[in-house]
Amino acid sequence: MAKTITAPRGTRDLLPEETQAWDQVEAVARDLARRYAFERIEIPLFERVELFARGLGESSDAVEKEMFRVAGAKGSNEEAAPWALRPEPTAGIVRAFIEHGMHVRPGPLRLTLIGPMFRYDRPQAGRYRQFSQWDVEVIGDAGPAVDAELIELGHRFYAEVGLTDVVTRINSIGDAECRPLYREALIHYFAANEGRLSEDSRRRLRVNPLRVLDDKELAPDLAADAPRGIDHLCGSCREHFDAIRALLDALGVRYELDHRLVRGLDYYTRTAFEFYVAGREGQQQALGGGGRYDGLVEVLGGRPTPGIGLGIGLDRTILAMEEQGVALPARAPLIAVLGTGDDHARRLGIAATLREAGVVVRPDGSSRKLGKQLESASKAGARWAVIVGEAEAVALKDLASGEQRDAVSIEEVVAAVSE
Ligand code: AMP
Repeated sequence: MAKTITAPRGTRDLLPEETQAWDQVEAVARDLARRYAFERIEIPLFERVELFARGLGESSDAVEKEMFRVAGAKGSNEEAAPWALRPEPTAGIVRAFIEHGMHVRPGPLRLTLIGPMFRYDRPQAGRYRQFSQWDVEVIGDAGPAVDAELIELGHRFYAEVGLTDVVTRINSIGDAECRPLYREALIHYFAANEGRLSEDSRRRLRVNPLRVLDDKELAPDLAADAPRGIDHLCGSCREHFDAIRALLDALGVRYELDHRLVRGLDYYTRTAFEFYVAGREGQQQALGGGGRYDGLVEVLGGRPTPGIGLGIGLDRTILAMEEQGVALPARAPLIAVLGTGDDHARRLGIAATLREAGVVVRPDGSSRKLGKQLESASKAGARWAVIVGEAEAVALKDLASGEQRDAVSIEEVVAAVSE
């Protein structure tokens, strides 16, 4: 036998018993996107490396350590092509916004997508090299109402998939006016304690000191006493943040302030938020998060336009649902259509009629004895068996009780199995 080939490290196959939860979570996401008036957008799975380098910042983990690079075909001019699989969707969506001149459309634009993201990271539980996100972006709205709306949307999503104890954390990291002062304060504070920082943090200290705050190796006492973003906000950033908090209070969305929550990407501004399961907080535990990026459109070559996004990790949402034992909606009952001999035209015909009525049908394609077909139907989880014969009418067998009714019309079958 030939040697078997396994899936690449950090990827997962989702087998049929797992996809039911995915279907449910994606259905909730799509329905919320509809109710919150987001329009679907699709962008490529790979983009130029430069887009991410500029959009997310050279010092972000996604660019510095986790870029999943893609090469062109061997021998082509593009063998060493500068592409990367998308680590997140915002940069690509903003690129598309600029490329298609979408700023002329009546805004603010509300865009959504569901799809895979890629980060070449060390795989572990809840951290994969390919994972899926539900993403929403609002481009052209400076907030603060839309900030509160997206936080409320995240909060609602977790409730609608059935998760409990999801905690919302928020912070403000200021803007181009006040962030420089905050950066200085952080550099000053951490430089005095440089010897206690991790190697990563020491390297980042002067390039991106906000990232030192979300270093999981940061000593708790150093973290607790570190300068706080909200103490360094300029007047307009403070007003913006206070307004979001008042709106969340009015909406009854509970949240915690988290001074260590920084979206450490260069062009992110003001609002940062994340969702966790209570008691499971930690670096790998964020279920989703988002933030404002008022500088990003300009950095990518468009005219200055505010924006904000929310990215929900579907893999971790589903892991949390499993941990909490969230019940999934019952599947529609399965109906097997069986027959005798080679009456497949009849079986397929009856199956088609039942499907037109919305019933879930699996015809037996074999010419085995009826008893064998019934056995397979039960094993496959069928709730009913429809047994076709010569006559127009069929027999309907309840596979749970074993009870059988003969000479039943198709309408009667539909009525019985739809109860
Ligand atoms: P981020 O843009 O890093 O905040 O990611 C948004 C969400 O995507 C996170 O809160 C996670 O739920 C999810 N996520 C990020 N990276 C991974 C990964 N490597 N594996 C699985 N889920 C991830």
